[in-house]
Amino acid sequence: MTDPVSRPTNFIRHIIDKDLTDGVHDHVATRFPPEPNGYLHIGHAKSICLNFGIAEDYEGTCNLRFDDTNPEKEDIDFVNSIKQDVQWLGFQWQGKELYSSDYFDQLHGYAVELIEKGLAFVDFSSQDEIREMRGTLTAPGVNSPYRDTAVTENLMHFEKMKNGEYAEGECCLRAKIEMTSAFMCMRDPVIYRIKFAHHHQTLDKWCIYPMYDFTHCISDAIEGITHSLCTLEFQDNRRLYDWVIENISIECIPRQYEFSRLNLEYTVLSKRRLIQLVDDNHVSGWDDPRMPTIAGIRRRGYSPASIREFCQRIGVTKMDNMVEMSMLEACIRDELNANAKRRMAVLEPVKLVIENFSNDEWLDAPNHPVNEEMGTRKVPFTKEIFIEADDFREQANKKYKRLVLGKEVRLRNAYVIKAERVEKDENGNVVCIYCSYDADTLGKDPADGRKVKGVIHWVSASHALNAEVRLYNTLFTVPNPAAEEDFAGTINPQSLVVVNAKVEPSLLEFEPLQGIQFERQGYFCRDVDTTDDKLIFNRTVELRDSFAKFGS
Ligand code: ATP
Ligand code: MG
Repeated sequence: MTDPVSRPTNFIRHIIDKDLTDGVHDHVATRFPPEPNGYLHIGHAKSICLNFGIAEDYEGTCNLRFDDTNPEKEDIDFVNSIKQDVQWLGFQWQGKELYSSDYFDQLHGYAVELIEKGLAFVDFSSQDEIREMRGTLTAPGVNSPYRDTAVTENLMHFEKMKNGEYAEGECCLRAKIEMTSAFMCMRDPVIYRIKFAHHHQTLDKWCIYPMYDFTHCISDAIEGITHSLCTLEFQDNRRLYDWVIENISIECIPRQYEFSRLNLEYTVLSKRRLIQLVDDNHVSGWDDPRMPTIAGIRRRGYSPASIREFCQRIGVTKMDNMVEMSMLEACIRDELNANAKRRMAVLEPVKLVIENFSNDEWLDAPNHPVNEEMGTRKVPFTKEIFIEADDFREQANKKYKRLVLGKEVRLRNAYVIKAERVEKDENGNVVCIYCSYDADTLGKDPADGRKVKGVIHWVSASHALNAEVRLYNTLFTVPNPAAEEDFAGTINPQSLVVVNAKVEPSLLEFEPLQGIQFERQGYFCRDVDTTDDKLIFNRTVELRDSFAKFGS
């Protein structure tokens, strides 16, 4: 067994280390158990990195198990998207993917065993009556009138349930534990219910379905899971988890350990809310780049490595907290700062004419400011170019380091120009800036020692390509939308801003999703909506310090 050195340690790894040292286990087996009722989100990535990461580091195994006990809400499309997302994140499960429904026969057998042991009974009370009898956190529950039904009768009723002889809601199977327990989950929990539903795996074989708490622990035991890692809301349910395992004839004794879920500012990480965003068309779909889903984040331009890095940086603890969005953004920014090629794109173009320039040139421009190995590219320089409207002012104080009427600025990768005069439309907006250029400033300072501080980016008007650029901001206007009564009411109307940009022709060379820095603007990637007629880019993340770098 190799030392788990490649990832930072945490309390779960300490538990595993101790179990291995004490001989409780001689191997490690984990699982990632998504319910196929939605797409995976960045919170799931935390659980994926934890479970698969531990399996990798301890040379153990990690299963992918679909927790599919709610046929009405689940779907094969979700199964497929989840498999794709786990692999995209860089992980591979042990063997074939598994399903809780693979164990429906065994689960049924264990339910019969509990009935035979007098530890489960069929209850004909209505759902409301069962809820009523359960009591509250401060008041104990009361026993169901069906609690003491004879074993043989319970077996007969359960068999009838299975055979479809009772209607949905007419009865259910409950574990017989303790109605006065301080843990609500121990108050004779329902373990099987009737549902005449078609199941994406078992089709129409079953009309009774086991509940999560009964299914999960037994599935873990069947698969020989050693450490069953889940989020803190299952802390109380651990009593039930252990109770079921102790009371059935099964050899493996898995243990459940809980860690805190990831909460991320300015977004929601609950499938119920994400489904609402999709169903109510607040976003374009599960893979809308504003969504915190793996599919959305991928389309936005995040790499698998950046998400794994994020999961490492946030760590694994038992403390509930809210992680800042900037933590996630820093991970992709750090990566793209090192790896992304630089390009020029003008997002809000205004025309600029260099009156004393006539012969088009192709200039060499480095692909990266420090990494020379990333090479150079040719950039067309022409008499007419576009610059950002915001990079020009008729008048400005000294702090403004861009182009000002009567003053000079450097065009990135090109010459120093001077703004001579402007042309305006009837509303007084500048529509064209007329400039002169100093031919002796390509790759060097002006010969007479004039200081030109500002650098702005540009593209050739005749060679530039049109592109739609999608600028994303946070999807919500408040840090914790889930705490709002109407979370959808806090959706940011500026979460998507679309601009028509002019971009360097060499941008055609990039693969979809490949990260690119648009100089002075941020990191971008080509969107999957791009067609032969229309180039579309997504802004992955802004530059940390947009202007400091080039001193403009
Ligand atoms: P949601 O509350 O978003 O519907 P869930 O817990 O019901 O999520 P599952 O498909 O059951 O979704 O989750 C699979 C695994 O991922 C579980 O082990 C769960 O604990 C874990 N998980 C879900 N959300 C988070 C999160 N925000 N942070 C960490 N782990 C999570
Ligand atoms: Mg769940």
